[in-house]
Amino acid sequence: MKVLKFGGTSIGSAINMRQVMQIITDGESKVVVLSAMSGTTNALLDISEKIRGGHSGKASESIAVLEEKYDHVTEDLFARDETRKKCRVIVDKTFDLLRSFLYKGFSDREEKIVVAQGELLSTQLFAFLMEENGFSTVLLPALDFMRIDGDRATDVAAIRSLLSELMDNSPAADYYITQGFICRNPEGEIDNLDRGGSDYTASLIGAAIDAEEVQIWTDIDGFHNNDPRFVSNTRKIDQLSFNEAAELAYFGAKILHPQTIFPARVQNIPVRLKNTMNPDDSGTLITTSSDGSGIKAVAAKDGITAIKVRSGRMLMAYGFLKKIFEVFERYKTPIDMISTSEVAVSLTIDNTKYLEMIHQELLAFGEVEVDRNMSIICIVGDIIREERGFASKVFHALDGIPIRMISYGGSRYNISVLVPESHQKSTLQTLSDKLLNVHA
Ligand code: ADP
Ligand code: ASP
Ligand code: MG
Repeated sequence: MKVLKFGGTSIGSAINMRQVMQIITDGESKVVVLSAMSGTTNALLDISEKIRGGHSGKASESIAVLEEKYDHVTEDLFARDETRKKCRVIVDKTFDLLRSFLYKGFSDREEKIVVAQGELLSTQLFAFLMEENGFSTVLLPALDFMRIDGDRATDVAAIRSLLSELMDNSPAADYYITQGFICRNPEGEIDNLDRGGSDYTASLIGAAIDAEEVQIWTDIDGFHNNDPRFVSNTRKIDQLSFNEAAELAYFGAKILHPQTIFPARVQNIPVRLKNTMNPDDSGTLITTSSDGSGIKAVAAKDGITAIKVRSGRMLMAYGFLKKIFEVFERYKTPIDMISTSEVAVSLTIDNTKYLEMIHQELLAFGEVEVDRNMSIICIVGDIIREERGFASKVFHALDGIPIRMISYGGSRYNISVLVPESHQKSTLQTLSDKLLNVHA
């Protein structure tokens, strides 16, 4: 069986939802993972922020605006009044729930319930559409099988057994529809896999059911060799290896949630990226093998914070780095890049939730310097096969860019450099011009 995931734009209107129905109904049984309709998650987060900030009146206005959008979609999507009526009951219930959070205490727990409504609504609307058109469809509630543990890591064993039980107990159907992004935590509360998490849901389901292929359907024809939001002349890549795709996704390529590749790679399940607006295009195929050698693509991850700990006295001492890393471990804060010198260690983090506490604890080891608003630029390819001169090509291309850190040799697939966020776009463009498009 295949798992197909459709992102927000792919189901962003009644017309697009019908297009998705056409794509999936080829007679082959499949699992279909849907995001929220485009704009909905942002709107729900905005509503949450307003309630949390004590602006329930403003939140109420935003709820009304969103409700109107769903009223229109309900009108446009269905052919029969009977289906519209059924859908209206669900939409009304959802918006009553959202209004029930107004003028009350509001914490992370409530926010997660609010943002989950986007995927709950889109899948319900789509399931009604499928049923109205006579397709045998089952809606599998992701909250009944998608699980994260106390460290917010996904619990693959639990997902596998819960999903298999759920599918065994569901009526036989051709099309299984489920929500991306949402899950439950060990407390049994509604939680999520972070922004863009529906891609990750799809590969987790793929791994759980030993799928033949995981397809990520979006609004572009595949993985490009640079970020098309910032750079002109990007090109689609036909084939990437799991390792190359994982590095690019982890270091900021928005087309894939950073963790999407891991479950697929463990079980060697091909991941294909496809364009909902151009379904005949072959897209990008991600497997164990890659086509060609050399530099394949670049990506950027912004919002990075660099931390330097300077300690002439202790750096050479045995166990010094361990003590530094333990501080980050205590605050569950992953480190992305690291470089050392005789007197200092520099590292970068993405999650700054505990930065103040980390800063305080690091002061015990020496002087601490913190630089915010940095970007990691990640250059990916088969660096070993690129032979000698790879690093010099990269640094030649980066001439004139203020590089704050370099990481080379951590894997054979990636060189990363840290630059100020204000130089992100120009760095991506210069790499495009001088490294990626030289033979174009
Ligand atoms: P979806 O809503 O379908 O999940 P996303 O907006 O999350 O879609 O991801 C698709 C977008 O990712 C594209 O429209 C494009 O702007 C952006 N993007 C960033 N980097 C890349 C890349 N290297 N290749 C293709 N798209 C990219
Ligand atoms: N709806 C969620 C988001 O906007 C998850 C996703 O689209 O993948 O982040
Ligand atoms: Mg996405």
